Amino acid sequence: MTDDLSRLSSSAYSQALEVIASVEPRIAEATRAELADQRASLKLIASENYASPAVLMTMGTWFSDKYAEGTVGHRFYAGCQNVDTVESIAAEHARELFGAEYAYVQPHSGIDANLVAFWSILAHRVEGPWLEKAQAKNVNELTDADWEELRRELGNQRLLGMSLDAGGHLTHGFRPNISGKMFHQQQYGTDPETGLLDYDKVAAKAREFRPLVLVAGYSAYPRRVDFAKMREIADEVGATLMVDMAHFAGLVAGKVFTGDEDPVPHAHIVTSTTHKSLRGPRGGIVLATEEYAPSVDRGCPMVLGGPLSHVMAAKAVAFAEARQDSFRGYAQQVADNAKSLAEGFLTRGTDLVTGGTDNHLVLVDVSKYGLTGRQAESALLEAGVVTNRNSVPADPNGAWYTSGIRLGTPALTTRGFGHDEFDTVADLIVDVLSNTQPGTTKAGGQSKASFVLADGVADRVRARSAEMLDKHPLYPGLELS
Ligand code: PLP
Repeated sequence: MTDDLSRLSSSAYSQALEVIASVEPRIAEATRAELADQRASLKLIASENYASPAVLMTMGTWFSDKYAEGTVGHRFYAGCQNVDTVESIAAEHARELFGAEYAYVQPHSGIDANLVAFWSILAHRVEGPWLEKAQAKNVNELTDADWEELRRELGNQRLLGMSLDAGGHLTHGFRPNISGKMFHQQQYGTDPETGLLDYDKVAAKAREFRPLVLVAGYSAYPRRVDFAKMREIADEVGATLMVDMAHFAGLVAGKVFTGDEDPVPHAHIVTSTTHKSLRGPRGGIVLATEEYAPSVDRGCPMVLGGPLSHVMAAKAVAFAEARQDSFRGYAQQVADNAKSLAEGFLTRGTDLVTGGTDNHLVLVDVSKYGLTGRQAESALLEAGVVTNRNSVPADPNGAWYTSGIRLGTPALTTRGFGHDEFDTVADLIVDVLSNTQPGTTKAGGQSKASFVLADGVADRVRARSAEMLDKHPLYPGLELS
């Protein structure tokens, strides 16, 4: 931010907080406290970032007050001309940014974007005399008998996605999620020795299972994916390839992932969140080829309520930012920093799932330290290092306690951290892990949750973090009065 913009943001936020405090001072207080906490901690949560003041401010307007169910020029509410403008600009930026044929910017979150994509694939692919009904512009015209027929035809379809403990997301067919209930699902994993995707095994599973939907993408896989290969597999078995790029959309937008690593030219449908490495507001998008566009457009009202117009406006601002040259530099730095972080761990003898990274995240296996992921996460938090615990492949501690912690570089890269700082971050984390012991249960056994962090370590780590954080302030120049 330039000095002028910092001054403007400082006064805008200070005044906004005054207005909020006049109604509910505790919310103004919590908002100030959140900024102070975010400024003072090492944020390594792989799915988080810091959106720009322009993106954040765009969300705080009267667009929040407008209902606009439907699509541009075809709304179920009157007076949507300005929402039409906002949605059209956001979709245009998204198409240009990702080189997509079609962009749908209404989903409220990543989960919603995946629901829209599932619906779209079912409506588009499952052939039958009811197809026109499934794609009806006005779903209110469908009778109970139509719905009965739709349920019979649309149910019982097959989905193949990456398993949760290999790094997939729960919306990719995990049993407790609706995706695991509405589809017959099977999962592909990673090689037990290397932790890497084995495309021959994915292909063999797809040949045997013959899914309607093949889902690629991940939340905790620290490597790139060859989407050209995934498309070959999908084509061979007649599946639709859906890629969920929620985590790495920033690396696609910033042209770090190109060719076979860019999902957009290879997938039929691509979904994403907008708030992780892409650094926009919280929300989702769906990109699709022209053939899927009509069914994606039925997202609202089929599985979504009224679009969040203020968030669509903020998506437009974030996409405009991501189209600037500087975003490419940012995205490359995110990937370079992840490599520095991984090397920092490896030189200090710490185990990493797959032995490294080539995207924005690192998955540390903490078993060697005699800890669960939960203990590691809590001990690190005590030292001001914010991470989240995560399963490792075939995790002996299950999905609750886990044996890993997942770390990502997008947020601290936004603050300006580079190679040396990420090496220091690895050092700080190793300091905490090697000075933490498991606690004991009430019955005297070894706890999987409680821990004992040696005296002085948290202070030492906080002091070293503060030196780096002070050098790279969050929202530099933004002062709240
Ligand atoms: N898809 C993937 C791959 C994710 O990692 C996530 C969130 O963590 C989601 C979807 C869901 O996003 P949201 O939390 O916005 O619903």
